[in-house]
Amino acid sequence: MAELRFDTRKIRAGYEPADNNQAVSPPIYQTASYDFRDTEHAQNLFTYKEAGYLYTRVGNPTVTYFAERVKALDGAANVVAVGSGMAAITYTLMNLASKGGTILASPYVYGGTIDAFDRLFPELGITVKITDAVLDPERLEKELTDDVKAVFLESISNPNAYLADIDAVSETAHRHGVPVVVDNTLATPYLYRPFEHGADIVVYSATKALTGHGNIIAGLILDNGDMSLYTKERYPQFYEPIVMLKGKSPADIFPDNFFIFRATLVYLNLLGAALSPQDAYLGIIGLETLSERVAKQSANAAKLAAYLESSPAVEWVRHPSLESYKYRELAKKHLPLGGGGVLSFGIKGTAEQEAVFLNNIRLFHYHVNLGDARSLIVDSPNTTHSELNADEMKLADIPSNLIRISAGLEDADDLIADLEQAFLAAGLL
Ligand SMILES: *Cc1c(COP(=O)(O)O)cnc(C)c1O
Repeated sequence: MAELRFDTRKIRAGYEPADNNQAVSPPIYQTASYDFRDTEHAQNLFTYKEAGYLYTRVGNPTVTYFAERVKALDGAANVVAVGSGMAAITYTLMNLASKGGTILASPYVYGGTIDAFDRLFPELGITVKITDAVLDPERLEKELTDDVKAVFLESISNPNAYLADIDAVSETAHRHGVPVVVDNTLATPYLYRPFEHGADIVVYSATKALTGHGNIIAGLILDNGDMSLYTKERYPQFYEPIVMLKGKSPADIFPDNFFIFRATLVYLNLLGAALSPQDAYLGIIGLETLSERVAKQSANAAKLAAYLESSPAVEWVRHPSLESYKYRELAKKHLPLGGGGVLSFGIKGTAEQEAVFLNNIRLFHYHVNLGDARSLIVDSPNTTHSELNADEMKLADIPSNLIRISAGLEDADDLIADLEQAFLAAGLL
């Protein structure tokens, strides 16, 4: 499969009809549990001598097909699918900082992620330092103390569509023995594959453009298979015996895959945000059109961005396709297939006019999701990122007049006409 090209892998990887009565479309294994053949089989499964399914919270064939397909698209070595993007992010960072320590995080991230950093991680004894030094190798260098367990950032950020130079960040972090975790939700592996740029771990909200139909909540954790960064000194949790492993450590059992193994065994198993087989099936169907969807979303977003930039109702626009874009050079180098479906703009006028504009939008859905086949619009500072305090808003570069668009698959001219009539209704044109 690794030799096949991306678009072939997105249709074929991870699933063999021959394993399932020649069924062309993957079956939904709608089962909670799996029979043991006999006592020896039970013992072999429990001691990891044999691979197999036990209980759907920690493994299900349909969920595996979905996870393996994304693994093939990203060029990852190991993968686990979980019940949401938030589960992917929290399980990953808890797995790296289970003994406490510091996570260095970019300020340009999803609102729920900031919420977890502010409210959940401190309770767990984990310090999260949110700083734009993460994006600047020279300043990052000074932050990488012995206490740091991970660097966390988004490849294309939500809601600003900012880019990060993952090659430079990874090179710096690795010199200090720290892994780089990339939330690649907005980019998807179609536009950008972080492992090719030095990332160690990739997380997804598969709720978004990866599966693309706004009909499931799902997440994934992937790694590059290089366990050498996880040293005994900085990450003793991988080398200590675990009761569930009868005195063995995760590294004893899976020397090439102990990061994902421990995330599954401790967090997916015990906190329990499992992906359902039904949702995994919908995810597989969504992946089949990943390239076609994301290419059209990127093209539609570029058209909307160009229209908005020319509109007197708009103060500024952020999208990788624009010459005025802050990271235009990086976008040319790293995003040759398109800038993604998400753009943001600053609306001119008062808060009341902004409300009239939003209330007059007819075609775009007004809600918090993104990456859907349908176009979506949202006033992020009042909704998806409303939990940020004033300092965090400033650090995250989210002005109060920011409006985020996630371009769908409609005709771009209809979308532009909808924006135009809403600007008119708000008295902005
Ligand atoms: C939506 C989103 C998440 C959270 O994913 P859920 O599937 O909603 O839990 C994480 N990161 C980014 C960038 C997102 O857009």
